[in-house]
Amino acid sequence: MPTAPTAPQDAVQDVDLLVVGGGKAGKSLAMLRAKKGERVVMVERDKIGGTCVNVACIPTKTLISAARVLREVQGAASSGVRLAEPDGSDATGLLARARTDLDALRERKEAVVGGMVAAHENVLFPGSGLELLRGTARFTGERTVEVALDDGRTRRVRGATVLINTGTTPAVPAVPGLESVPCWTSEDLLTLPELPEHLLVLGGGVIGVEMASLMGMLGVSVTLIHSGEHVLDREDADVAAEVARGLEALGVTVLTGARAQGVSRDGERTVVVTEDGRRVSGSHLLLALGRAPVTQGLGLEAAGVELTDQGFVRVNERLETTAPGVYAAGDVAGSPQFTHASWNDFRVLRDLLDGREATTAGRLVPWAVFTTPELGHVGMTEAEARRAGHEVLVATTPTAAVPRARTTGRTEGFYKVVVDARTEEVLGAAVIGDGASEVVTSVQMAMLGHLTWRQLRDAVITHPTMAEGLNIVLDTLG
Ligand SMILES: Cc1cc2nc3c(=O)[nH]c(=O)nc-3n(C[C@H](O)[C@H](O)[C@H](O)COP(=O)(O)OP(=O)(O)OC[C@H]3O[C@@H](n4cnc5c(N)ncnc54)[C@H](O)[C@@H]3O)c2cc1C
Repeated sequence: MPTAPTAPQDAVQDVDLLVVGGGKAGKSLAMLRAKKGERVVMVERDKIGGTCVNVACIPTKTLISAARVLREVQGAASSGVRLAEPDGSDATGLLARARTDLDALRERKEAVVGGMVAAHENVLFPGSGLELLRGTARFTGERTVEVALDDGRTRRVRGATVLINTGTTPAVPAVPGLESVPCWTSEDLLTLPELPEHLLVLGGGVIGVEMASLMGMLGVSVTLIHSGEHVLDREDADVAAEVARGLEALGVTVLTGARAQGVSRDGERTVVVTEDGRRVSGSHLLLALGRAPVTQGLGLEAAGVELTDQGFVRVNERLETTAPGVYAAGDVAGSPQFTHASWNDFRVLRDLLDGREATTAGRLVPWAVFTTPELGHVGMTEAEARRAGHEVLVATTPTAAVPRARTTGRTEGFYKVVVDARTEEVLGAAVIGDGASEVVTSVQMAMLGHLTWRQLRDAVITHPTMAEGLNIVLDTLG
């Protein structure tokens, strides 16, 4: 593997690009620039491949897809599936008793994650020519870090260009009593030896509702406790209410307007007391109250890199920090907390470093919440569009009106498209149903191409697909 020349211990190793933290943006830029022949060092203190691959998107979606299989099997009789004993007698009732084998689930998840990690470690990174330093980086001066290597040695590296991509970590808010009760983060849920009897989920954002939905599908009793008026604060109330209905259909109890005021233990149980005096108890507690930027101990002051009031690295629309030559990307830079946003940050940096203009301003970042049914979202909500002064047309139709949903029997949810009445362009869409995360990509392309709602309504879309619901929902506008 071609590597950047290694300097003797105390000397500073000069490289073209120094990447601190191997998240989505960091590893993508490191590989690209190394392939172009630059001297690139990337420092990673933990798992190869970053958060998404190891403890976030990939393992959670692997588990969610397994839980969906379980649900399908349990409900298979209603689709006409029968199970027979070897003697031919009917055993269909057994389908409803299907359960997951946690060890097998974990093994599959680890195989999926392990495969991706191995691809990074053995193929992608070495194939690109980047030098990977396994250890923790801390800035000691302008564009310069000291790396405490995992093997006990120290290295100093200076980049002509530096990228900070250190991500986020679960936030632990100041709720009285929280420090003295055992609690889990989303990472702990990925390695459970057994399912909890009754899980309390504190926080109804994306991670909280996804985890509540997953656990509900696995047969765990779940209570979701959320301080806001509805789950998923950013969504319109009707969309959030439909997501909450989906959770309730899985047996999840959803408490809103329930800010946690205190947490304590009562024997073997954890008790959350909310501001309005409700006492909710469960066997285990999951914290899903947001993620905090990883900046502590990074020595950013020494590098001249400032933080925002919220503690993220301060960047402009070109991802430049307050220190010349130092960029930041991904979660730590305050980009929307999605892997695809971090990946887009990489593309912005790719162009800028190649001398082309690029910016993060005005980009359209869709998102999905992988509940069951799932929510896909792109662009503005109805409330945001009205607040921004648009004259708004809103089209809605139940997912049950989409022929494909009829064929699968999964008819929960609805499609909602927000349109500017004056320009007739689509401002945003929220879709709840099977494959919603894919369906909104079609809306996103229409928005990027500045199509009018009439063009999208009249586009010939394959039948019967969930995307065809876009023809149906826009038909309601005329
Ligand atoms: C449970 C969960 C589910 C999620 N699901 C989705 C999803 O389905 N879709 C989606 O788009 N997003 C999802 N996300 C969000 C997504 O995972 C993050 O937005 C994304 O991983 C952020 O990537 P990043 O590029 O900012 O850096 P990260 O991938 O977080 O990488 C940062 C890296 O920096 C390293 N590092 C930190 N400090 C140092 C240091 N001092 N020295 C060396 N290395 C250091 C860390 O070890 C880490 O590997 C999910 C998040 C969670 C928690």
